[in-house]
Amino acid sequence: MRQVYLDNAATTPVDPRVLDEMLPYLREEFGNAASRNHSYGWRAEEAVDTARNQVAKVLGCSPKEVIWTSGSTESNNIAIKGVARMYGEKGKHIIAQETEHKAVIDPCKYLEQEGYRVTFLPVTKAGLVSAEQVREAICDDTILVSIMFANNETGTIQPMAEIGKVCKEKGVLFHTDGTQAFGKIPVDVEAMGIDLFSLSAHKVYGPKGVGALYVRRKRPRVRCEPVLHGGGHERGMRSGTLNVPGIVGLGAAAEIALREMDTESKRLSGLRDRMWKGLSSNLDEIFRNGDPDQCLPNILNVSFLYVEGESLMMGISTVAVSSGSACTSASLEPSYVLKALGLGDDLAHSSIRFSMGRFTTQEDIDFTVDKMVETVNKLREMSPLYEMAKEGIDLSKVVWAAH
Ligand SMILES: *Cc1c(COP(=O)(O)O)cnc(C)c1O
Repeated sequence: MRQVYLDNAATTPVDPRVLDEMLPYLREEFGNAASRNHSYGWRAEEAVDTARNQVAKVLGCSPKEVIWTSGSTESNNIAIKGVARMYGEKGKHIIAQETEHKAVIDPCKYLEQEGYRVTFLPVTKAGLVSAEQVREAICDDTILVSIMFANNETGTIQPMAEIGKVCKEKGVLFHTDGTQAFGKIPVDVEAMGIDLFSLSAHKVYGPKGVGALYVRRKRPRVRCEPVLHGGGHERGMRSGTLNVPGIVGLGAAAEIALREMDTESKRLSGLRDRMWKGLSSNLDEIFRNGDPDQCLPNILNVSFLYVEGESLMMGISTVAVSSGSACTSASLEPSYVLKALGLGDDLAHSSIRFSMGRFTTQEDIDFTVDKMVETVNKLREMSPLYEMAKEGIDLSKVVWAAH
């Protein structure tokens, strides 16, 4: 049975080249990178240093500014709670946006219980925030702005350099959850005025359970209160024995992603556009969510009106995708990200996120388009709403019988 994986925004397979780099560090090179008195430790430390350089090159920062973590959830927690606690004397106001990942929203909500104030900025229909909105939201006691680089559901890319400029002008620290952007589109923490940047290996063909946080060391020197206390590793910001094989994998993944970024980005956006063309030329009443121009090359989010996302996913069971109706755990709440874009429950519930990756082929796309068209048509044949709409009945004006 043909299986197609179009859920690369949820996680990616480990690239075989990455695995090859990792294997020696799971076998003979098992040293602790903090062991200073023998060669096992030195070799492990050397491997970690190489990876630090590889990650730093993608961000445009110094290797000394890279802190290893267990992934983006932890990086976001260190950045947000760490900055809040370190600079809490200066102020207790934080700015984020409504479409942030839960790994940003929840630490912010947690801080609200501790007496911090958080402003969640609304976004446009395309999912964008503007530097002007950020400027207007900054108060005397604002200490941190946290704006996601590229959205994991819609692919929408925020105007990072403009927001960074406003933050610099106002003397407010700028964090970004860059998980979906890292290794996919150009990043330059200097040019973009970014002070903290969260990333994760498993979204760029590295292993799960490892990530990093960029923490600026100069102009200004940023400090974070640690979340974990212990041996004082990673400039005191993240104690714990380093996951050497994982870090080696993240480094290798970063190097490959950077080297292949231009060609891969063109290939992926070609596949994404082919998919949208295939869907939109064969189906009516479908809508593309997010900003079609300021968008990651690999994400396509579409609402198929009059069909339900979950039924759609079941209908195309050999294709792995995500639906906007079940994005957060197993709840049937429609995606809060799509609702923030102004979608009604009907459109949010009928949305599917297709996320292509390094191993996606044109055949995968064509197969998926065929499956989707077939399934949507079948479901709509059974949908009285679709039939009524086709007959020209304005569904918003229908007075439904009382139950
Ligand atoms: C996947 C993802 C996370 C969580 O990353 P983990 O490494 O799995 O903790 C956070 N933010 C975004 C935008 C993501 O896509």
